[in-house]
Amino acid sequence: MTQKHGKNIVIIGAGVIGLTTAIKIQEKGDYSVTVLAETFPTDSKCIRYTRGHHVSAATDDLRQQQLERETLDVMWKMSALGDGAEGCFLRAPQTEYYISKEGNPDLSFSPNFQRLEASAFTNVAEAVSAVTFSALNINTPTYLPYLLARFLGCGGHIIRACVQHITQVLEGGVEAFADNRSGGKPIDGLVICAGLGARTLGGVEDKDLYPVRGQTVLLRAPWVEEGRSLVVESGSKTYIIPRRGGTVIVGGTREANDWYPIPRPETTVDILEPCTPSVRKEREPTVEDLKPLIIEEGCGFRPARRGGIRLQSEWVKVPGSERCMIPVVYNYGHGGYGFQTSWGSASVALDLLEGALAEGPNMSM
Ligand SMILES: Cc1cc2nc3c(=O)[nH]c(=O)nc-3n(C[C@H](O)[C@H](O)[C@H](O)COP(=O)(O)OP(=O)(O)OC[C@H]3O[C@@H](n4cnc5c(N)ncnc54)[C@H](O)[C@@H]3O)c2cc1C
Repeated sequence: MTQKHGKNIVIIGAGVIGLTTAIKIQEKGDYSVTVLAETFPTDSKCIRYTRGHHVSAATDDLRQQQLERETLDVMWKMSALGDGAEGCFLRAPQTEYYISKEGNPDLSFSPNFQRLEASAFTNVAEAVSAVTFSALNINTPTYLPYLLARFLGCGGHIIRACVQHITQVLEGGVEAFADNRSGGKPIDGLVICAGLGARTLGGVEDKDLYPVRGQTVLLRAPWVEEGRSLVVESGSKTYIIPRRGGTVIVGGTREANDWYPIPRPETTVDILEPCTPSVRKEREPTVEDLKPLIIEEGCGFRPARRGGIRLQSEWVKVPGSERCMIPVVYNYGHGGYGFQTSWGSASVALDLLEGALAEGPNMSM
């Protein structure tokens, strides 16, 4: 694709939200987009960067359902045979078991959705209902570099930077962080996709953000071909998710405001215990049987937000300049749903940006 020189848009953040939003804006053709971020997908693993894994847990929040449906449509096409992103996904049968009949998410929009008769899930003692459908499981260590490559391939730019305050970008542009540090080239719009980083990023400092720590175990178990989740009260889950390439991710812990950055050994045992029957079928299995299958233990912080995802725009005055106000779009706080809402959220962010640029700073927003 030839590079176009349109309005200069800067995005802070190179997680799934920042990169998807960057692609959506860059591929529109009217913009030149630069992503500024402290961490990129090609870096080694780090607690300041989140990775999730699948696209099929919905919610009863209508706005979020809409974001998830749009994302599933886009990703389903990306996972089709022959698409450039096909290798990032696995389409696999998924069964969700519920311990309550009330308050379960509506997943009926999922491909091949079916409610199971009680006789079909007697093997899960706690379950009172269950549904099955085709899930789209993402191999995030492949998908995030794919997004980065696609963004660069359509003419996008990246700069590694730790932004302390958004005024640094509003006044100095991206050059303030580039090697020559000249500063001053004006930007036309700023999009904040900093995940949990928006809690401390100057000029945003959103104290409604908080971490929900999740710990997982990655196993080599190519014989597991179906995903299973046990959904307990408050929506938390114990899950087994097969990924392309013969690995299986097992997890489900959710601890709000727990900032511990490395896996706890006792939690690994708690995670493995309920999934032993699914992983080893040939005899009565134990956690010890599973230990040789472990590739790695992981943990991350879901960037949760009281009030849900922040998708908003406002005009912010450029300091030290008579000149102008710049539209700032906020797209962060995706909690445990960042992958499965990414394309829907990016569409809303693009609409907010284009609406602001079209209307100008005098309109009330
Ligand atoms: C165990 C676990 C399981 C999960 N399972 C799922 C799942 O099944 N489905 C799903 O959809 N989601 C899942 N998630 C959630 C998902 O991983 C997150 O919602 C998503 O990764 C958030 O993406 P993000 O781009 O908003 O934030 P991040 O990936 O954290 O990216 C933030 C970016 O902003 C940058 N940044 C922050 N502050 C600054 C600054 N001041 N200056 C410069 N750069 C900055 C960072 O460097 C980084 O590049 C799971 C998460 C965990 C931990």
